[in-house]
Amino acid sequence: MFKGVLAELQKNLRLLPGVGEKTAQRLAMHLITQEKELSLRLAESISAAVNAMKKCSVCHILTEVDPCIYCSDYKRDQTKICVVENSQDVYLIDNTHEYNGRYFVLGGLISPLDGISPKDIFIHELLETINSGEIEEVILALNPSAEGESTINYLAAALKKYMVKVTRLSTGIPFGGDIGYSSPVTLSNAFKRRFSV
Ligand SMILES: [Zn+2]
Repeated sequence: MFKGVLAELQKNLRLLPGVGEKTAQRLAMHLITQEKELSLRLAESISAAVNAMKKCSVCHILTEVDPCIYCSDYKRDQTKICVVENSQDVYLIDNTHEYNGRYFVLGGLISPLDGISPKDIFIHELLETINSGEIEEVILALNPSAEGESTINYLAAALKKYMVKVTRLSTGIPFGGDIGYSSPVTLSNAFKRRFSV
């Protein structure tokens, strides 16, 4: 068992996704035995990235510059807005090159079981954006999980009063699946075969 600062390092590494106790122990040991310079550079780059990244004031994606590269690119189709759960989904969708419109990051999904209601995510801001813009299509690119479905249903109802077409991705992504884990081809097809809600 580690003690003191090493135990603390292991405890913090353990908080990373997919890192169990054994791996955390091995990583902690690696970090203190490899060349000191390398570990300190890692610590510095974590600190720099965490401090530099902020939410885009328009779409809420995590970005180094505000507004983000997507919001400040007026060559993108301003009549379409793609609604996603988190910043990671934007990078994945943009990688498919299937879509060239605007994005909007909700920052979560409605989940009554976890106590997450519509007011806990950026739904109000999304509706304001749609209300004030030139949006013609709202694409709900949300995971087809129970929480994703609740959010899609809520948004479909809330968007009824706006003169916009509301679509969702085809179910190429299996129910309970995660946009983050589907292949670029699956995601690209799900985009092409999106349908109205
Ligand atoms: Zn943005």
